[in-house]
Amino acid sequence: MPRRISTHRKYPIGHRSLGIFRNPTLWVIVVSILPTIVLLVISYFQAIAYTKANLEGIIKVATQKTNLLLENAEDMMRRSNLDLQNADTQTAINILQRQIYNDFRFREFGIVNTEGFLTLSNLGVSNPPISISPSKYRFDPRDRNLQILGIGRTQLMQEKSIVLMLKGSGKIGFMYLLVDPIILTSFLEAIPDLDLGVNGYIAYMASDRRILVAIGTPPPDMNSNIKNLSFNTIQVTGSTKVGKMIIVGEIDRQWALRYWMQEFIIGVPLTLLISGILSYLFVRQVRKFNTLDYELKCGLSRNEFEVYYQPIVDLQTRQCVGSEALLRWRHPQRGLLYPGLFIPIAEETGLIIQITEWLLEKVIQDRNILGTEFQDLYTSINLSPSHLNNGDIERLIKILQERDRAQSKITFEITENRLVEQQAQVVSDAIARIKKWGVSFAIDDFGTGYSNIAYLQKLDIDQLKLDQLFIKGLENGSKISLIVDSLIDFGDRLGLTIVAEGIETEAQYQYLKDRGVSYGQGWLFARAMPLEDFERFLHTQSR
Ligand code: C2E
Ligand code: MG
Ligand code: MG
Repeated sequence: MPRRISTHRKYPIGHRSLGIFRNPTLWVIVVSILPTIVLLVISYFQAIAYTKANLEGIIKVATQKTNLLLENAEDMMRRSNLDLQNADTQTAINILQRQIYNDFRFREFGIVNTEGFLTLSNLGVSNPPISISPSKYRFDPRDRNLQILGIGRTQLMQEKSIVLMLKGSGKIGFMYLLVDPIILTSFLEAIPDLDLGVNGYIAYMASDRRILVAIGTPPPDMNSNIKNLSFNTIQVTGSTKVGKMIIVGEIDRQWALRYWMQEFIIGVPLTLLISGILSYLFVRQVRKFNTLDYELKCGLSRNEFEVYYQPIVDLQTRQCVGSEALLRWRHPQRGLLYPGLFIPIAEETGLIIQITEWLLEKVIQDRNILGTEFQDLYTSINLSPSHLNNGDIERLIKILQERDRAQSKITFEITENRLVEQQAQVVSDAIARIKKWGVSFAIDDFGTGYSNIAYLQKLDIDQLKLDQLFIKGLENGSKISLIVDSLIDFGDRLGLTIVAEGIETEAQYQYLKDRGVSYGQGWLFARAMPLEDFERFLHTQSR
């Protein structure tokens, strides 16, 4: 029983779904959308960066102006401390009053003696002296720098003020200066386009992080808020050199996004240009991929090629003596393709080398499947003449070396009309090298090329295959038959086996048989067929 083999391979799963990537429309859509998405992302980050830069500018101005205010306050207190040392009570009041009248930013200026009693201020003598506890304001008596002690009211000045204190010398324990909080927020009012959104705020804080004054509404848990930055907000902080006042600005990220669309619209023309260029490049590339040579490469790697065998018979006995291996490409979309369509492209792109190597290996495998019963049969394989000329025969020889020689008698057919384009010496050397591995050579489509006899004589050839064009025109007495007669004669004289191709009628067969042509191939005997059919054919013949 002949073994059943399937020549119809399954196509790799997903192959068809991959075809979607070869659709140019899909790529146009993808590359048009992609730059828009990139632009959206970039413009988002730009909007955030723009808002942050704005806020940084505001905080910088606020910090600078506050620093100046504190420098002035410290300077005023230090100067007054010296002037007050030897002044009598009235002179001292005058000094304090002069300072306050000179600078509208300060409300009250007072001195506390070393025993902790407020004795004098710009408002006059405190009688009886008021006891002032520095610890109430968290004043550190060891610190010689200006200290900002939060919001407070003295008993004299009832309006809430920012309390600044500086350690004094001599009979002065410390001095205090009250600043109207409005002064700090007025720095911000001078900034044009100050826009913090609904939840945005700017807060001035003492070094212990208690809020002194703010615009907007800072969160109640301001302390922890500074440390734990939230992703939803943009926060900037500044700190003064004098007194270490902290200024915090915070804006909702969402608020920043009103710039998003502006930034996006600016980028649209550039995006359209990029989309257009990308679409053009991708479509060009996809089209290139869709061309046959690219498909051919894929076809080979996906194992879409098949080998059909056409029997070659002995014309005297009509018994099969061998077969010609002919390529077929089972294309997933286009169906079964014949070599006339793809072999020329494979030759042009050089892929024919790999295809032939694959075919040779496949033929050797198939011969093993046929088994020893048919070991005398030879298999003809078409070899592109360029294969011999390019020196690409090493792998071919390697495959031949590894094969089981007894089971696979191989003949290489070289088409005559392409042969003349190759260098005779190179081809002849290649044929000689390959023949060492027990294969024979045939000239295919003999009579259609322009090879001269001198050229053919240089090559160590075993067979001539008469082209089917001549066989078609065969009739006794026709001009064609005269050519055929002379070709047969030529082959006989050189001692070559002659194979007539394309025998379709009994008359053609009889004509060739009568002239002693050895072998024939054609639809009269059998068409090219898959291996399993060829196997069946051989079995029916041998019965
Ligand atoms: P070829 O080597 O001359 O192969 C014979 C061609 O004639 C085959 O066509 C075969 O099917 C066809 N044929 C055989 N008997 C008859 C007949 O009685 N009447 C008619 N009208 N045609 C007949 P196919 O298979 O289409 O191959 C065409 C050509 O493609 C081949 O011509 C060969 O030159 C080339 N080819 C096929 N397979 C390969 C290959 O693996 N490598 C290379 N380099 N070329 C190949
Ligand atoms: Mg052939
Ligand atoms: Mg031929």
